[in-house]
Amino acid sequence: MKYDYIIAGAGCGGLSLLYRILKNSTLQEKRILLIDKEQKTTNDRTWCFWEEAPGLFESIVHHEWKTLQFKTENFTNEFTLKDYSYKMIKGLDFYNLVLEYAKDFTNVEVKHEEVLSFDVKDNTAEVITDKGNYSAEYIFNSTNLLNPSLSKEDTLLQHFMGWEIETKEPIFNPEVGRLMDFSVGQENGLTFMYVLPVSKHRALIEYTLFTPEVLEKRAYKAAIKEYISNEFTTASYSIIQDEYGVIPMSLQKFEVHNKNRIINIGTAGGYTKSSTGYTFQFVQRHTEKIVIQLEKDKSPLVPLTFKEKVFQWYDRTLLEVLLSKKMEGKRIFSIMFRKIAPERILRFLGNESTLLDDVTIMKSLPTGKFLTAGLKQMFK
Ligand SMILES: Cc1cc2nc3c(=O)[nH]c(=O)nc-3n(C[C@H](O)[C@H](O)[C@H](O)COP(=O)(O)OP(=O)(O)OC[C@H]3O[C@@H](n4cnc5c(N)ncnc54)[C@H](O)[C@@H]3O)c2cc1C
Repeated sequence: MKYDYIIAGAGCGGLSLLYRILKNSTLQEKRILLIDKEQKTTNDRTWCFWEEAPGLFESIVHHEWKTLQFKTENFTNEFTLKDYSYKMIKGLDFYNLVLEYAKDFTNVEVKHEEVLSFDVKDNTAEVITDKGNYSAEYIFNSTNLLNPSLSKEDTLLQHFMGWEIETKEPIFNPEVGRLMDFSVGQENGLTFMYVLPVSKHRALIEYTLFTPEVLEKRAYKAAIKEYISNEFTTASYSIIQDEYGVIPMSLQKFEVHNKNRIINIGTAGGYTKSSTGYTFQFVQRHTEKIVIQLEKDKSPLVPLTFKEKVFQWYDRTLLEVLLSKKMEGKRIFSIMFRKIAPERILRFLGNESTLLDDVTIMKSLPTGKFLTAGLKQMFK
């Protein structure tokens, strides 16, 4: 049987697309096959992102913050957001919401199989798994099978370990999220702590680095322990949950499609912002556009707008500065958060800034270093 759509990968990209298709009255009866090698029954990650209006996944937002903090050993900038909210969604809540919703649709099949390869023959897309071959009009791929090969020269890894801890004492302020705390050692490269309290007793504390190589697991654990004992001295705590992640931040091009029939989504489609690793909000915008195309019976290949290409160039420029060590990452973010209105920075990092925002941010940074990097990346 030929499906209308095969969604290969049931993570952030695949399930966001599935949910949007099933919420759309024109598309919800399409024959869909969802394939993932995993059952998606564990809370393997927490997504944070910012948006203005309530989004499609508002009902599962676990916590949100209107006040954020940026910190170094020399200054703390605490700011209240007017337009945006910074939100957290737990991976398992997201998987459960979409997979439960899909159960009501007999036209949606779910298979737990390992995808081995893809093919396109006579305008039909095919997926080959460890258990069979399936074909469709379009395949939406978020597995890493079609990713470019990455090297230390062109890619930084954003790697992190996070602990959700619970304390006996009410030591956290759930109103204030600490976005970046650069007061930790920078000996490995750009390194910061992320502290997101969800109640007076609970917070997610994440040790994050942007460097060419990951650390040994015990190094992250030691850093988090030390941070907790320095910042929250009297606290006795237990670890409720932990997460570990590695996100590629690369100058390499992630292909948007393969022969027009296999459309890459999520990280595989280049929707991880290469200068920050944020993905969730960009996946939402992309999958929304795909559904608009499908609804009009048009190709789901969504060309990048001029502005999106400009943002990609900004990302590549910042990454080039970090990779070439032209300037320390901590200095770049410190200058921005010291000199620029935070909401403007979030607009910029969320690809929603105006030309005035862009120029203001660029003027705050040492022009020479960014100009050389920008020119190098301009025609790539
Ligand atoms: C721990 C962690 C925390 C993160 N936190 C944030 C955050 O706060 N904010 C943010 O914006 N981004 C965050 N990210 C980055 C990004 O949002 C996530 O990685 C996101 O899940 C990417 O979506 P995706 O669909 O591309 O990949 P995934 O969500 O990883 O989905 C890919 C799916 O494909 C399946 N798969 C892979 N290979 C195969 C195969 N061969 N056969 C069958 N199935 C296969 C996997 O099992 C998986 O379910 C985080 C990432 C991690 C790892």
